[in-house]
Amino acid sequence: MAGHIPENLLEDILGRVDIVEIISGYIPLKKAGANFKTNCPFHHEKTASFMVSPERQIYHCFGCGESGNAFKFLMRHERMEFPEAVEMLAKKCGVSLPDQDKPELARAASLSSQLYKVNEMAVSFYENNLHTGSASLAINYLSNRGIKLATIKEFRLGLATSGWDNLINFLRSANVSLALLEQAGLVLPKDSGGYYDRFRNRIIFPVFDMRSRVIGFGARVMDNSLPKYINSPETPVYTKGRNLFGFNLSKDFIRDADSAVIVEGYLDFMIPYQEGLKNIVASQGTALTLEQIKLLKRYTHNVVMIYDGDTAGEIATLRSLDILIDEGINVKVVPLPKGMDPDALVRNEGINALKAKVEKAASFFDYKLDVLKSRHDIKDAHGKTKIASEMLLTINKFDNAILRGEYAKRLSEAMCIPEQYILEELGKLKPAVSTPGGQPVSFPRKNPQINPAEKLLIKFMLEEKELIEKIMRELSPSDFADARTAKIVSVMQDLVGQGKNIEPSVLMNYFSEDDASQLVCETMFMPALTEQTREKAVNDCIARIKIQSLKSRREHLHMQIKSAQSLGDEGKLNSLIQEFHNLIKKGD
Ligand SMILES: [Zn+2]
Repeated sequence: MAGHIPENLLEDILGRVDIVEIISGYIPLKKAGANFKTNCPFHHEKTASFMVSPERQIYHCFGCGESGNAFKFLMRHERMEFPEAVEMLAKKCGVSLPDQDKPELARAASLSSQLYKVNEMAVSFYENNLHTGSASLAINYLSNRGIKLATIKEFRLGLATSGWDNLINFLRSANVSLALLEQAGLVLPKDSGGYYDRFRNRIIFPVFDMRSRVIGFGARVMDNSLPKYINSPETPVYTKGRNLFGFNLSKDFIRDADSAVIVEGYLDFMIPYQEGLKNIVASQGTALTLEQIKLLKRYTHNVVMIYDGDTAGEIATLRSLDILIDEGINVKVVPLPKGMDPDALVRNEGINALKAKVEKAASFFDYKLDVLKSRHDIKDAHGKTKIASEMLLTINKFDNAILRGEYAKRLSEAMCIPEQYILEELGKLKPAVSTPGGQPVSFPRKNPQINPAEKLLIKFMLEEKELIEKIMRELSPSDFADARTAKIVSVMQDLVGQGKNIEPSVLMNYFSEDDASQLVCETMFMPALTEQTREKAVNDCIARIKIQSLKSRREHLHMQIKSAQSLGDEGKLNSLIQEFHNLIKKGD
């Protein structure tokens, strides 16, 4: 995992930053004894099982097993590359990275950062095009759409002029390679060889990530021709459905309002935002994705959806409802008349009309019921059954019995179906809660049955360096049955031999596999023992591991003997049998 960055440097950085401060910059942490805890940001849960240890500078989730040190948190939570996380924390705590490491760092983090750079250059190029004298057509178009100059600047809108290679020529003159341009999705290869600009004769809407870096582009025609929009393809820095348009600008407003309005497109975001509805984001696609919802959840649990008043908008809203409810989000919906979208609504009726609709948004229940009633005939028995079962699927998403009961009652009243029938049907559905049991260790692990004695010994060794020598006199790494515990023990032994630090947060820099560091973190959050009980526990663990190791060696030998027998290998057989006898003597 460490790559070419010297271990002592990583150790230095880890020694200066505080993981509690870093994690609480993204999610609120609550004090719990010597540790901090919170709901896990990496899996859906209702009771907090994500622990952070200020003493050990590590985190661990007892629900999904996600764990690590400060670097790992940034890599997982902010999707940084390892060198990027190192650079960020180094900067934060004032550790300077030696020059010879910089090219390595640059190379390792390079593709992403080069793509951000190229995208940034492209944005400036398009912006410039829009603000030169010859772009009056585009400026007029934007002003007719109600977009003010300040908004154009804030969103860094631009213009791709007509012509097949304007951007190519500009970026080539700045020594950007065509291969990189292609990876950024800005150019396309020609059949006849060479490349051409992807975006031509269109208004450019740059797409930013949470840290306001340009990750992609949307490009809109200025007339009624089709396709209306062309978008960037997915690139190493741009995954569709992982980003919310405008979130970089609106996230603080969303946190302050503790509520987010979700719309579909660029203009549905920009016009209301410009007019003063600031707690808004655009999903930029059809239905919301789980990743978008998880992003949003860091800021609020209250959502109002306003999608376009057409069939596609309706379908996308219904699909999003179920995921939002599944994620514990309180969701309301503003239905719009056919052909209407938030952008048009604000231009026609003003921002207060939209704000009033948000204020009076329908509950998910009323919205879904209305949609279903418009699709099926409630007077017909089959239509009625269809509506009721669709509603029950959503009601079943709630795992709170009181809420389920409330909604079942409302459904019974709204559809004139006796409540007992509704409850009966609801009872037939399987619970839809996404964390099984909601309690720790319910995820499949590679090898779930690690001998607890092995875990405990690792904990003891990490807590008390002096124990390592004692334990290693009695056991060798190969006595540990699990591949991960064996690996951890062997790395610890090496490091101690070299007089190096084996703090858990530092130790995990040596593991390339996630599950070894996961185990280190897990053991650190196991309950501590008192001085007296510890000594006995250490001896018990050593004894148990010895027995286990002997047993598995006997089994292994037994198999080898069998195979030597069937092959008729007399010489090998004799030596194996001798070995077997020695082992038995030692064992008892
Ligand atoms: Zn988790």
